[in-house]
Amino acid sequence: VESRTERVAVARDVSGDTAVIDQIELARDLTLAIEREELFLQYQPKVHLRRQQITSVEALVRWNHPTRGLVLPNDFIPLAEESRDIVALTLWTIRRSIQDQKTLADKGHDLRIFINIAGVLLADKRFVRRACALVESSGARLGFEITETSVIRDPEGAIANLKVFADIGIVIAIDDYGAGLSSLAYLKQLPARELKIDKLFVTQLTSSNRDPLIVRSTIDLAHALEMEVVAEGVETQAAMALLSVMGCDMIQGFLISRPINLDALIHFLEDGKYQ
Ligand code: C2E
Ligand code: CA
Ligand code: CA
Ligand code: CA
Repeated sequence: VESRTERVAVARDVSGDTAVIDQIELARDLTLAIEREELFLQYQPKVHLRRQQITSVEALVRWNHPTRGLVLPNDFIPLAEESRDIVALTLWTIRRSIQDQKTLADKGHDLRIFINIAGVLLADKRFVRRACALVESSGARLGFEITETSVIRDPEGAIANLKVFADIGIVIAIDDYGAGLSSLAYLKQLPARELKIDKLFVTQLTSSNRDPLIVRSTIDLAHALEMEVVAEGVETQAAMALLSVMGCDMIQGFLISRPINLDALIHFLEDGKYQ
């Protein structure tokens, strides 16, 4: 495990002192951000291609920083993982998603909400207990998106915790498939119902020779393992048409919608396009 000081040293070499101080400040601010309600969620719909329906949304966290303005997750999730703030952040995300799901249900929209779960949390017994308690006491319909990389350090422990989640009705989705370290041995053992093909293979689907082959064989593999396939990063009609022909089950991407606030999601659901 890389220590914090080592990482800081690396950052200093690469990008100079300002970047390091920046990161330390941001990490310190993050601890307070949750209490100060500076975090908020946006939702991005997934469309089921055959049903032409929105069946679920992914919750994506954003940080409205008092002096820096909008900070995106790639700039603070890694810091949160290192400082352990990821535990509080993710429990907050689960609680907010449960509230928002109730708001949606009151308006007649019954959607599963998927939450990104960092790898470190799959080794954290206290997190697992508290997450399960939130889901069980609310009866919420959630999904957890995890990457295969997060299973590699302690496969037995991580898979056991994923089974605990799956047993209480949380749908497990494998995120960013194909972008990290993939192991068919783990893929077979994970209690996952969805596989999300990384946008790396999707954004250039119709302009590359190889990506369509990779995507098609991934869809076939997932179906053989009885998983539904989500293509993320769908930006064009042409990509959607090709994915549909390939038998992809769901798509997510800017073509359908960018990640949007709850109010905008409600408007989107009510504009009639996917009902
Ligand atoms: P991800 O889970 O792979 O999320 C998808 C990212 O792709 C999102 O970026 C989304 O805005 C973007 N995206 C969606 N559609 C398109 C498209 O058509 N084209 C392109 N080019 N991009 C698209 P975002 O919101 O900046 O999130 C980045 C990453 O931050 C996420 O990647 C996820 O790994 C992480 N993240 C976000 N929220 C959370 C959270 O609550 N907890 C944890 N642990 N990680 C989170
Ligand atoms: Ca995700
Ligand atoms: Ca992803
Ligand atoms: Ca990603």
